Amino acid sequence: MRVWTVGSSSAVPTADRGLAANLIEYDGERILFDCGEGTQRTLMKEKLGLMKISRIFISHWHADHFSGLLGLIQTMELEGREEPLYIYGPPRTEEFTEKILDTGYFRRSYDIFVQDIVEGEEIVGEGYTVKPFEVEHGVNAFGYSFEEASTKKANKEKMKELGLGSSPKVGKLKEGESIEWNGETVTPDQVVEEMPGRKVVYSGDTEKCENMIENAEDADLLIHEATCLHEMIDDRKGHTSALQAGEIASEASVDKLVLTHFSRRYRNNEEELREEALKEFDDVELAQDGKKFEVKPHRPEE
Ligand SMILES: [Zn+2]
Ligand SMILES: [Zn+2]
Repeated sequence: MRVWTVGSSSAVPTADRGLAANLIEYDGERILFDCGEGTQRTLMKEKLGLMKISRIFISHWHADHFSGLLGLIQTMELEGREEPLYIYGPPRTEEFTEKILDTGYFRRSYDIFVQDIVEGEEIVGEGYTVKPFEVEHGVNAFGYSFEEASTKKANKEKMKELGLGSSPKVGKLKEGESIEWNGETVTPDQVVEEMPGRKVVYSGDTEKCENMIENAEDADLLIHEATCLHEMIDDRKGHTSALQAGEIASEASVDKLVLTHFSRRYRNNEEELREEALKEFDDVELAQDGKKFEVKPHRPEE
């Protein structure tokens, strides 16, 4: 499972940063979270083919989070896409997408299904679910939690103790069946552990709020907006400072925090934002357009 921060500037792009977009690649499928201007060019630079994008989740309908949609949809058409594309977002997503699709002259070779979703609704994919949750931004706005289904993993240490090695019978144990081994019965719970799936959470735009912290709990990776330094936060209503993003990461006990959605005033010194977040949380990275983050599978402790 790999995650890219595709666009990382807030409100307006800079020479080095496009507008909000993040991509999760899971089991060959690509899922886009927001699609600001510049999204397709950064994906192309990283050789991340657009055609594998199956779903797009829009956090909210401010232009810096959707202004790349029209171009992306048209490129897919010109490349001869046939697979359907699914677009999800908060209330009014159907209405706004309809308008985008009704702009200009172009044909469409594939279907686009658009859906307004609400908190509590889960979009279920192959081996994962995406859960929207409400955040505080003054308009209908979601953060998203991408959650891999839990899996059954054999504990190698315990297998060794039982002398099971890499016996094909382990498959049976994973399916919940007991097996006979060296004249003894081995039950699944002796070897197999249920491992929670990986979790990646994206804040969209929000001020610091309780629902954000709750939904980010125990995430492997939290991609959180950090529009400005804390000294500016009173002028940026509906947004989070780097310091607050650090607090959220710490209160939600996540593994890693990636800061994104930087105001252009920090375009030459984003490191200041990272340093501020580091006061509250110790594993902080700055988003960069095209930067990749690997999220490793959970393994039983051995
Ligand atoms: Zn924004
Ligand atoms: Zn916004």
